[in-house]
Amino acid sequence: MSELPSGGEDVMLPLFPQLLPGLEVLERGVDEVQIGLDPRHGVVASGLPPSVIEALRSIDGRTTVHSLLALAESEHTEQLRDVLTGLTELGLVSEADPPTHSAEPGVEAGLWSLRSGRDQSRIKARRAHCAVVVRGDGRLAVAIAILLAKAGVGHVEVAAEGTVTEHDVGCGYTDDDIGVPRRKAAAGAVRRSNPATRTGRLVGGDRLPELVLLTDAVVPAPEVVGLLVQDGVPHLPVRVRDGIGIVGPLVIPGRTSCLRCADLHRTELDSRWPRIAGQLAGRPQRADLADVQACAALAVAQTLRVLSPADKPPPVWNATVEIDPYAAKVKHRWWPPHPRCHCGAR
Ligand SMILES: [Zn+2]
Repeated sequence: MSELPSGGEDVMLPLFPQLLPGLEVLERGVDEVQIGLDPRHGVVASGLPPSVIEALRSIDGRTTVHSLLALAESEHTEQLRDVLTGLTELGLVSEADPPTHSAEPGVEAGLWSLRSGRDQSRIKARRAHCAVVVRGDGRLAVAIAILLAKAGVGHVEVAAEGTVTEHDVGCGYTDDDIGVPRRKAAAGAVRRSNPATRTGRLVGGDRLPELVLLTDAVVPAPEVVGLLVQDGVPHLPVRVRDGIGIVGPLVIPGRTSCLRCADLHRTELDSRWPRIAGQLAGRPQRADLADVQACAALAVAQTLRVLSPADKPPPVWNATVEIDPYAAKVKHRWWPPHPRCHCGAR
């Protein structure tokens, strides 16, 4: 665990400081505290008098920075200011949401700001302006949609066909949804997750989504993929194939390799692949709940990275990430643009 560095002079302290969700001020000794557990971001501050430690333990997002500074004895105020500045500079302390926002249900940016190096309030604001379509007729679509809603994505449309069956329930659809059109039941599940999320139709509307997730079918329907490529809409396949969750490759038309690139690579490995793919196209494959949940979580984290374009390219850029919950393994597979594909990615 590294020692807390002194904060820079140009760091502005938050008016209502709060620790990132999940972090605590933990005592290591009489004059030493630790904030954060993971060695990649956790820090230790030592040589602290009791009044400074008490003030740090009082950071709750509702106490102003001035009240916190007043908790330290006057000769230790500057030391407390230094610690707060260091924590703010590292992103471990940030400005609390205004009370009106924190009363809203649902939105969870969590420790994302620590991983991405971006401010929590900016992450939330950006997500709130994003629209995502989840297109799939199985468990993955609804599992992903409710996580995206909870993460604060402003508009989440589940474009699902057919009606809910007993094989769909367990990760969003309920027993009461059986027999209800999937699109309607999924919109209900999204609103239960976050009532502020918009769920109306984006497909065919004026507003193009930032991303379309193609879920549940091992091979996405070619006509759906064709339209997305034609309209230049980024898309991300997500499926569970024989117990292995597979996310990617992310397709940004003209920039990354496309699903036809991947098909050409597959066909080089197995000349009969087109015939197999033809039989699977557009058909959801049933999957166990644990595999669905693991795959959905991976897909949502990658989606949230795609929605934050300042980040470096996500791991699903020209690649798939495969998660095998049974063997507890995660594998990355590279799918570069194919020389015989005309998608322009090369
Ligand atoms: Zn291509």
